[in-house]
Amino acid sequence: MALIVINYFIAKVHELEKIAKELDISIHCRDLAILCRTTTTDIKITLYYGYEVKDMDQKLFDLLYAAVVNRESTYEGVYYTGVKTTKIVCRPTCRAKTPKAMNVTFYSTLEDALQAGFRPCKRCKPEANGALGPDAALAAQVDTIIETQYKDKLTLSQLAALLAISPYHLQRTYKRVRGYSPAEKTELVRLKHAQRFLLESNATIAEIGEAVGYGSPSHFAAWFSNRTGISPTAYRNGQGGGDESDE
Ligand SMILES: [Zn+2]
Repeated sequence: MALIVINYFIAKVHELEKIAKELDISIHCRDLAILCRTTTTDIKITLYYGYEVKDMDQKLFDLLYAAVVNRESTYEGVYYTGVKTTKIVCRPTCRAKTPKAMNVTFYSTLEDALQAGFRPCKRCKPEANGALGPDAALAAQVDTIIETQYKDKLTLSQLAALLAISPYHLQRTYKRVRGYSPAEKTELVRLKHAQRFLLESNATIAEIGEAVGYGSPSHFAAWFSNRTGISPTAYRNGQGGGDESDE
């Protein structure tokens, strides 16, 4: 069986359904990495929808999942098991009920799992043994919110309210752990997604601007040029430096 990787920029989920219909394939969805299987070929569509896509080879997944089923300690500290239905992350050896494979996402670090919105399991305590201090855990929680809501550009007060802590404590703790503020993090996340969309999708500049929170294409282009020293179009065309306009 061959594996074909197709990268799509899909602005709306219903577009994926349309594509699947056109290709006459069924969709098995595990998080945002979509695995589609036909009779002759495995077709993998990586869906960019404003999130970091975690790709994993099916063989590796099966191997890790078997370890979880058997509660083997082989991958202890190497992989963490995120359970989508409960939003809880476990050690691979957790004694709790074995989750269904379709609900599992594996993460190579606990921080990645926390950033993806999972909470540490109270039973197997994946955060124990100094993996993450409370400040680092808070920073990871902040990153999770920003990674999923960067388009909305939450204010410090809104972020703090979501975490039920004071804005002052949030700003101070986050900056100490990360070395920059939550506002700067939002900018970095927006830029990261904009750059990836520019290089890996066929979406227009306006569509990409909107996807990262800029309703106005000129506002997006000005912001992008300001951050990178190059216009979105020039960046997409692989031109290093220069400051040509997009308008
Ligand atoms: Zn657990």
